Amino acid sequence: MLIDTPGMRELGVIGGDGVEAGFEELAGLAAQCRYADCSHRHEPGCAVRAAMERGDLSEDRFASYLKLKKESEHHERSDLERRQKDKACGRFIKSVQKRMKE
Ligand SMILES: [Zn+2]
Repeated sequence: MLIDTPGMRELGVIGGDGVEAGFEELAGLAAQCRYADCSHRHEPGCAVRAAMERGDLSEDRFASYLKLKKESEHHERSDLERRQKDKACGRFIKSVQKRMKE
């Protein structure tokens, strides 16, 4: 199965939960981690790292999951910034309209 194709990448970035799509077993493992915000790097009780140590999960697969997750988070962040800018812009327009009425 090819994971790192442009199509998969797009799918992962567009949908909110898209990162987990195609990485179901990884998402399932991540849900078993001791911490909900586990980065699967050095936290104790990490189910993902335990699976890698057992050989159930390849490091390559985990690396591409992390890469996709990072891209998706970046995408979500820029989306939020854009919304905040829109809000600020709306406030500015309203204040101008108010001044014009006065
Ligand atoms: Zn973990």
